[in-house]
Amino acid sequence: MVFYDKVPRKPIALGEKVCQNSRKNMEEKFIKLTKKKLKTVFEKCNSLYFDNQVPTPKYFELWTPSKRIAGWVRCVWNKTSKSRDAALHISDQFYWTEENLVKTMVHEMIHLLIEDYKRPLSFWRRLLGKDHEQDFKDKMNELNEKYNLDIAIRVKYMKKYMKKKE
Ligand SMILES: [Zn+2]
Repeated sequence: MVFYDKVPRKPIALGEKVCQNSRKNMEEKFIKLTKKKLKTVFEKCNSLYFDNQVPTPKYFELWTPSKRIAGWVRCVWNKTSKSRDAALHISDQFYWTEENLVKTMVHEMIHLLIEDYKRPLSFWRRLLGKDHEQDFKDKMNELNEKYNLDIAIRVKYMKKYMKKKE
Protein backbone atom coordinates (compact mmCIF):
# COMPACT_ATOMS: atom_id res chain seq x y z
CA MET A 1 0.00 0.00 0.00
CA VAL A 2 1.06 3.58 -0.44
CA PHE A 3 0.44 6.16 2.18
CA TYR A 4 2.01 9.33 3.41
CA ASP A 5 3.36 10.24 6.82
CA LYS A 6 0.73 11.92 8.92
CA VAL A 7 2.96 14.66 10.34
CA PRO A 8 5.74 15.77 8.04
CA ARG A 9 8.80 16.57 10.13
CA LYS A 10 8.99 19.98 8.51
CA PRO A 11 5.67 21.01 6.99
CA ILE A 12 7.48 23.40 4.65
CA ALA A 13 9.67 20.51 3.53
CA LEU A 14 6.66 19.10 1.76
CA GLY A 15 8.44 21.11 -0.88
CA GLU A 16 9.23 24.77 -1.27
CA LYS A 17 8.62 23.95 -4.86
CA VAL A 18 5.16 22.68 -4.01
CA CYS A 19 4.27 25.94 -2.30
CA GLN A 20 5.63 28.07 -5.12
CA ASN A 21 3.82 26.00 -7.64
CA SER A 22 0.58 25.68 -5.75
CA ARG A 23 -1.32 27.90 -8.12
CA LYS A 24 0.14 26.13 -11.08
CA ASN A 25 -0.68 22.80 -9.47
CA MET A 26 -4.28 23.82 -9.16
CA GLU A 27 -4.27 23.83 -12.92
CA GLU A 28 -2.99 20.28 -13.09
CA LYS A 29 -5.16 18.00 -15.05
CA PHE A 30 -6.95 15.52 -12.87
CA ILE A 31 -8.29 12.19 -13.94
CA LYS A 32 -11.87 11.09 -13.50
CA LEU A 33 -11.23 7.99 -11.42
CA THR A 34 -13.36 5.02 -12.36
CA LYS A 35 -12.86 1.26 -12.09
CA LYS A 36 -12.58 1.16 -15.85
CA LYS A 37 -9.84 3.79 -15.77
CA LEU A 38 -7.95 1.77 -13.15
CA LYS A 39 -8.08 -1.26 -15.38
CA THR A 40 -6.83 0.74 -18.36
CA VAL A 41 -3.91 2.18 -16.39
CA PHE A 42 -3.18 -1.28 -14.97
CA GLU A 43 -2.96 -2.75 -18.45
CA LYS A 44 -0.83 0.11 -19.72
CA CYS A 45 1.65 -0.24 -16.83
CA ASN A 46 1.69 -4.00 -17.16
CA SER A 47 2.76 -3.69 -20.75
CA LEU A 48 5.23 -0.83 -20.21
CA TYR A 49 6.99 -1.94 -17.03
CA PHE A 50 6.18 -5.56 -16.25
CA ASP A 51 6.27 -7.35 -19.60
CA ASN A 52 2.61 -8.24 -18.88
CA GLN A 53 3.67 -10.54 -16.05
CA VAL A 54 1.34 -9.09 -13.39
CA PRO A 55 -1.83 -11.15 -12.97
CA THR A 56 -4.93 -9.00 -13.44
CA PRO A 57 -6.71 -8.57 -10.10
CA LYS A 58 -10.26 -9.81 -9.98
CA TYR A 59 -11.53 -6.57 -8.46
CA PHE A 60 -10.71 -2.90 -8.96
CA GLU A 61 -11.99 -0.72 -6.13
CA LEU A 62 -12.10 3.03 -5.50
CA TRP A 63 -11.74 3.04 -1.72
CA THR A 64 -9.06 2.22 0.86
CA PRO A 65 -9.31 1.52 4.61
CA SER A 66 -7.93 4.94 5.58
CA LYS A 67 -8.00 8.39 4.04
CA ARG A 68 -4.20 8.41 4.33
CA ILE A 69 -3.89 5.34 2.14
CA ALA A 70 -3.74 6.08 -1.56
CA GLY A 71 -3.44 2.53 -2.84
CA TRP A 72 -3.88 -0.96 -1.46
CA VAL A 73 -3.89 -4.57 -2.56
CA ARG A 74 -6.11 -6.98 -0.68
CA CYS A 75 -6.56 -10.70 -0.66
CA VAL A 76 -10.12 -11.89 -1.25
CA TRP A 77 -11.15 -15.44 -0.48
CA ASN A 78 -13.10 -17.02 -3.30
CA LYS A 79 -15.56 -19.47 -1.73
CA THR A 80 -16.47 -21.09 -5.02
CA SER A 81 -12.99 -21.90 -6.28
CA LYS A 82 -11.54 -22.09 -2.77
CA SER A 83 -8.67 -19.88 -3.80
CA ARG A 84 -7.44 -16.41 -3.16
CA ASP A 85 -8.22 -13.55 -5.50
CA ALA A 86 -6.75 -10.07 -5.47
CA ALA A 87 -8.45 -6.72 -5.20
CA LEU A 88 -6.60 -3.57 -6.23
CA HIS A 89 -7.77 -0.43 -4.45
CA ILE A 90 -7.03 3.17 -5.41
CA SER A 91 -8.67 5.81 -3.23
CA ASP A 92 -11.11 8.25 -4.78
CA GLN A 93 -10.47 10.57 -1.85
CA PHE A 94 -7.57 12.10 -3.78
CA TYR A 95 -7.32 14.19 -6.91
CA TRP A 96 -5.25 12.09 -9.27
CA THR A 97 -2.86 13.25 -11.94
CA GLU A 98 -1.91 10.68 -14.55
CA GLU A 99 1.65 10.62 -13.18
CA ASN A 100 0.65 10.04 -9.57
CA LEU A 101 -1.82 7.39 -10.57
CA VAL A 102 0.85 5.55 -12.55
CA LYS A 103 3.31 5.73 -9.64
CA THR A 104 0.75 4.40 -7.17
CA MET A 105 -0.44 1.79 -9.63
CA VAL A 106 3.08 0.47 -10.25
CA HIS A 107 3.68 0.27 -6.49
CA GLU A 108 0.53 -1.81 -6.04
CA MET A 109 1.42 -3.93 -9.07
CA ILE A 110 4.67 -4.97 -7.40
CA HIS A 111 2.53 -6.37 -4.58
CA LEU A 112 0.41 -8.20 -7.14
CA LEU A 113 3.50 -9.54 -8.90
CA ILE A 114 5.32 -10.90 -5.84
CA GLU A 115 2.01 -11.85 -4.17
CA ASP A 116 3.17 -10.68 -0.76
CA TYR A 117 -0.41 -9.71 0.06
CA LYS A 118 -1.10 -13.44 0.41
CA ARG A 119 1.51 -13.84 3.11
CA PRO A 120 0.28 -14.18 6.66
CA LEU A 121 0.39 -10.76 8.22
CA SER A 122 -1.92 -9.23 10.73
CA PHE A 123 -4.38 -6.65 9.51
CA TRP A 124 -2.77 -4.01 11.74
CA ARG A 125 0.74 -4.76 10.64
CA ARG A 126 -0.44 -4.48 7.08
CA LEU A 127 -2.33 -1.29 7.81
CA LEU A 128 0.75 0.20 9.44
CA GLY A 129 2.70 -0.35 6.28
CA LYS A 130 4.99 -3.05 7.68
CA ASP A 131 4.33 -5.04 4.59
CA HIS A 132 7.24 -4.18 2.33
CA GLU A 133 9.88 -6.83 2.52
CA GLN A 134 13.17 -7.16 0.70
CA ASP A 135 11.71 -8.69 -2.44
CA PHE A 136 9.35 -5.73 -2.76
CA LYS A 137 12.23 -3.28 -2.35
CA ASP A 138 14.37 -5.16 -4.86
CA LYS A 139 11.67 -5.02 -7.53
CA MET A 140 10.92 -1.37 -6.73
CA ASN A 141 14.60 -0.40 -7.04
CA GLU A 142 14.92 -2.35 -10.26
CA LEU A 143 11.96 -0.56 -11.84
CA ASN A 144 13.09 2.83 -10.56
CA GLU A 145 16.50 2.36 -12.11
CA LYS A 146 15.25 0.91 -15.34
CA TYR A 147 12.44 3.38 -15.99
CA ASN A 148 13.30 6.32 -13.73
CA LEU A 149 9.91 5.96 -12.07
CA ASP A 150 10.50 7.30 -8.56
CA ILE A 151 8.28 4.69 -6.88
CA ALA A 152 8.45 4.83 -3.09
CA ILE A 153 7.09 2.90 -0.12
CA ARG A 154 5.87 5.97 1.70
CA VAL A 155 5.07 9.19 -0.10
CA LYS A 156 4.34 12.68 1.14
CA TYR A 157 3.41 14.38 -2.06
CA MET A 158 -0.07 12.87 -2.11
CA LYS A 159 -1.14 14.92 0.90
CA LYS A 160 -1.76 18.00 -1.18
CA TYR A 161 -4.07 16.04 -3.44
CA MET A 162 -6.45 15.00 -0.69
CA LYS A 163 -10.01 16.06 -1.34
CA LYS A 164 -10.71 16.55 2.36
CA LYS A 165 -7.81 18.06 4.23
CA GLU A 166 -6.97 16.65 7.64
ZN1 LIG B 1 2.70 -1.11 -0.55
